[in-house]
Amino acid sequence: MRTNQEIISSIELEYQNKRRRNEINLQKRKRKLYEQYPYLEKIDDEINMKYLSIVKDSIEEKNVNDKTYKDIDELKKQKKQYIMENNIDMSSIKMNYECNICKDTGILENNGKISRCQCYINRYNSLVYENMNMSKLFEDCNFDKFDIEIFDDVKKIGKFTQREFMSKMRNKALSFIDNFDDKNEKSMLFYGQVGVGKSYLCLCIAEKLIKKRKNVVYESSSELFEKLARYVFSSDKTQNSDAAVFNSLVYNCDLLIIDDLGSEMTNDFVRNQMFSIVNIRAVNGRKTIISSNLTQDELQERYEQRTFSRISSYYNTYKFIGRDLRMPKLQIK
Ligand SMILES: [Zn+2]
Repeated sequence: MRTNQEIISSIELEYQNKRRRNEINLQKRKRKLYEQYPYLEKIDDEINMKYLSIVKDSIEEKNVNDKTYKDIDELKKQKKQYIMENNIDMSSIKMNYECNICKDTGILENNGKISRCQCYINRYNSLVYENMNMSKLFEDCNFDKFDIEIFDDVKKIGKFTQREFMSKMRNKALSFIDNFDDKNEKSMLFYGQVGVGKSYLCLCIAEKLIKKRKNVVYESSSELFEKLARYVFSSDKTQNSDAAVFNSLVYNCDLLIIDDLGSEMTNDFVRNQMFSIVNIRAVNGRKTIISSNLTQDELQERYEQRTFSRISSYYNTYKFIGRDLRMPKLQIK
């Protein structure tokens, strides 16, 4: 099993290779064009030589001769003229990118804010998905295998038997998936005791949304906060570090599933992070599913009030009932 860092290194390498390949292909097309139009190469060489001389002069702290700039302008004019006269298609020597949005860097910059391009996030998620062998896990955890019969249908807990409740929850989950892109569809908080099917349902939802090509990040809360701490407390804040990528994913993926909230060591860092995740994702209209074995009161005690005011506005809350069925649980390591 590959670590997160190994996955990110392999994507970085893929992107490097992509850029190298783009460059090589561009050079090949350029060579072909020059063979066809040698005069074009001659002018380009001359322009490059002029630029080099400017660089050389400035390194040697000499004044750059104005004539050099004029010569460059003149050469550019000649080049333009030559291209027109010969009707040369210059589009063949434009760089071709697989992703025109990030130009195959995987990085977007917006007002000084760095984020990951969707192409990178997609690639990351599909590798994580493969790596976690989720496909194997999904063999058992998916809506087709969702067997309502295993839930007790005799004893009512409150208004429903466990089976009636789970059947209701299955429909809720399916409608959450159907309406996933609807901004009015709320996020979800699942709580209740261990083994009543919360994680199982989270996995079924993840499976279906990944099939619909949504970016799903599924983490146990202990792993989630540990990984975020690695970013926050690291001196390496470069956007390429695995911690930075993970940090960006937590805020920007289509669906974040935080499993077993409360199982982590809850401290001020966790409380702050929890607020900023819930708040920022809600503000940006991104959906989150939180599952927890704690009661609502325990959750309120443990995290910040402002986190709960966001959860009450942006989440539908479901209390899972019934006995521990030891539902298959996701192990992410
Ligand atoms: Zn991109």
